[in-house]
Amino acid sequence: MFNDRPARSASPPPGVRSAQSVLEHVFGYRSFRGSQQAIVEHLVAGGDALVLMPTGGGKSLCYQIPAIVREGVGVVVSPLIALMQDQVDALRLAGVRAAFLNSTLDARSAREVERDFATGALDLLYVAPERLLTDRFLDLASRASIALFAIDEAHCVSQWGHDFRPEYIRLSVLHERFPQVPRIALTATADAITRREIVARLALEDAALFVSSFDRPNIRYRVVEKDGAREQLARFLRGRPAGDAGIVYCQSRRKVEETAQWLERLGHTALPYHAGLDAQLRRTHQQRFLREDGVVMVATVAFGMGIDKPDVRFVAHLDLPQSLEGYYQETGRAGRDGEAAEAWLAYGLADVVMLRNRIDESGSPDEVKRVERQKLDAMLGYCETTRCRRRVLLDYFGETLDAQYRCGNCDNCLEPPQTVDGTVPAQKLLSAALRTGQRFGAGHLIDLLTGKATPRMVQFGHDRLPTFGVGSEFDETGWRAVARQLVAAGYLHANAERYGALQLTEPARALLRGEVKIELRCVSRRDMRTRERASRAGRAAVPAGVDAALLEALRALRRRLASEQGVPAYVVFNDATLTEMALLRPRSESELRRVNGVGDTKLARYGEAFLQVLRAAG
Ligand code: ADP
Ligand code: ZN
Repeated sequence: MFNDRPARSASPPPGVRSAQSVLEHVFGYRSFRGSQQAIVEHLVAGGDALVLMPTGGGKSLCYQIPAIVREGVGVVVSPLIALMQDQVDALRLAGVRAAFLNSTLDARSAREVERDFATGALDLLYVAPERLLTDRFLDLASRASIALFAIDEAHCVSQWGHDFRPEYIRLSVLHERFPQVPRIALTATADAITRREIVARLALEDAALFVSSFDRPNIRYRVVEKDGAREQLARFLRGRPAGDAGIVYCQSRRKVEETAQWLERLGHTALPYHAGLDAQLRRTHQQRFLREDGVVMVATVAFGMGIDKPDVRFVAHLDLPQSLEGYYQETGRAGRDGEAAEAWLAYGLADVVMLRNRIDESGSPDEVKRVERQKLDAMLGYCETTRCRRRVLLDYFGETLDAQYRCGNCDNCLEPPQTVDGTVPAQKLLSAALRTGQRFGAGHLIDLLTGKATPRMVQFGHDRLPTFGVGSEFDETGWRAVARQLVAAGYLHANAERYGALQLTEPARALLRGEVKIELRCVSRRDMRTRERASRAGRAAVPAGVDAALLEALRALRRRLASEQGVPAYVVFNDATLTEMALLRPRSESELRRVNGVGDTKLARYGEAFLQVLRAAG
């Protein structure tokens, strides 16, 4: 572990350093992002704040800078113990006096940290909630000078969320015992119920509220119709630069294992992660994902909160998530550093049928089922939309955009889908289901429409039906898309007790009689491939103007320095900083200092090594 103490303090006497100067010299950034500046100023002036900002929005600086600017130690409460070491290492590399207190420290080291806290020899102290709530710590705190309390992952106070931490409820003690110390609570969970709970439980009624847009403009959203999903994933990965880290989400443990093995055989570094794995192995895989370049984590949703890796370049879903909230949270783990990232989702009819049936058969109260169905329908609406996907997402989270809005960074904006009046094809499929007694699944109905005289077809005499072979307008892939869209739109229901037999619902009658029309996204295997190729072509391996070899050399140096110091690569410099270096090609320390992300301490520590690589590149 990286453990040497920084030579000098990052915080001279109070009042001397402005927030802007800390931003530039300590963190090496030119300007604040979004509402960061307003939040920092509010805290520096002694106010309380509640900050709702998406993952990757830049929450950390909102309390780190005021903690450095204000007199005393900034105390950060966080439930993510596994991350504290990396956070503290990153701060120390930037020259900030930081430490943490949690159960991973031995007694002697803990005493040392406590002493530094009491004597004000720290700028920032990260504390686990259970540790903070001990009498010992609270007594220590009442004698120390405290710049602020930051409550990270504040949604953990919510008993309704899955990240609930009972200790979080007791954090109101901070307000009672230290009423004069400013507090800032931060979360990436946006909904109004959670927000109200945070305010009430942490006594933040008088806090200023800062809500950022939840848009993640650097994430490119893409949804593909399943057609050999594993091969589609392989092609997706092949089209990406090697060395990129990513997450592949699957529904089941078995699929996680199988997919990871299969990707390994294709030459990727792929590691499985799910709740059924031994805890030690899970930890090892997580560590490798954080520290090595180019690891693909294949995981169930058990892999999630606290994955603070900023340079995850893609998140792929091989199965349909159950809600847009979940999907947004999972895809939000991509591109926290603001660099281009992709969210890729493959889904098909079987996903829809499986998730619908799971809800139907869950045995939950009707009220719960109703909510779950609504959530799934919103998810399906996102998949099937022909509009800008970002707009659908933001709409769902309550940010209404102009009707003409197009983000230019989702598949529907980049390669607008073809839609057709699907009324006649829909009627063909519905009547095929009716004429065969609503006893057959999509496969058989599609064979029927496309005129395949399979043994089953002949056995049931379906090759003599008038609908046999009337579906020449689409290939098999196209008809599967029609079936899926009819199920997603609620015209067909897949009966789980009858092996997924497709049955007409009440609204289907009106469609069959031609009283309503339906628009369909038209799909054939050929235009799927065309779209796939277009998407690969649109994805540059390296940003325009950047020399790929130079970028790789800079990455190799970063890898070496990081492993020498036992820290993740991004702690040395993040991807954005390396890309800017490769683009600007600084030749001197003063030029290098102008690169966003190069602060004074890192310049002194790493400047020469990076300059050598930059100069060698000519
Ligand atoms: P969050 O905690 O909200 O998910 P972080 O605080 O981890 O986000 O910040 C995400 C990334 O953005 C980090 O790599 C961080 O260094 C970078 N970042 C934050 N603020 C700025 C800024 N003002 N300028 C440039 N990069 C920034
Ligand atoms: Zn769009």
